Amino acid sequence: MTEDQFAALRDRMVDQQIRARGVVDPRVLAAVRQVPRHLFIPQHLWDQAYNDYPLPIGADQTISQPYIVALMTEILEVKETDRILELGTGSGYQAAILAELAAQVFSIDRMGDLARQAKEMLDSLGYKNVQIRVGDGTLGWPEEAPFDGIIVTAGAPKVPRPLTEQLALGGRLVIPVGDVWSQTLTCVRKTREGLKFEYHGGCRFVRLIGKYGWNGGQEAEARSD
Ligand code: SAH
Repeated sequence: MTEDQFAALRDRMVDQQIRARGVVDPRVLAAVRQVPRHLFIPQHLWDQAYNDYPLPIGADQTISQPYIVALMTEILEVKETDRILELGTGSGYQAAILAELAAQVFSIDRMGDLARQAKEMLDSLGYKNVQIRVGDGTLGWPEEAPFDGIIVTAGAPKVPRPLTEQLALGGRLVIPVGDVWSQTLTCVRKTREGLKFEYHGGCRFVRLIGKYGWNGGQEAEARSD
């Protein structure tokens, strides 16, 4: 397939999967049209890169369904001057979308191999405003806080306290919260009156594993056996 053909598939994906379901922010839609999603997944899956489902990226992890990426990005309300923290770099695709929209993106993954591959792809595409770190993202990135937006692309049992602490006043935290098999897409807004919670429907993510996430995953393994 040529780059023009991939671009045509992206346009169709935006119209049929994303706009059709109610994501309307023009900046978000432009970013999704722009980023070559196929380059963030294994080559033997390229013909499925713009389909309406998540795909495996190795190490038992997945790149989210395109609609969910767009929806979470819209809920995050990213402005050009924003500094954004992402937990769960994975393939680096969501980080690329954020890099199109924000001033600076900080992304953390607990898996070194995924973080390194993502960094290489983002560098090769010329994104200069993304920093990637390997570690437990549930602790946040205190040296770079506060953040205007924080997005968590793995499912958490509860909202990790370090993340709300590292949110700027007026900032948004978008995070799937629930049990291992299904979560509610949750937006936490930091206001002068305190934290305000909004809920945006069901979703299903791989586990957020860490000090303020699933504790090493033991609970989850026990349930799936
Ligand atoms: N946003 C990614 C998809 C993320 S998949 C993309 O666009 O492709 C979920 C990722 O969360 C996995 O890579 C997993 O390693 C990572 N993860 C799980 N727990 C984490 C933690 N505590 N800190 C950082 N990353 C974590």
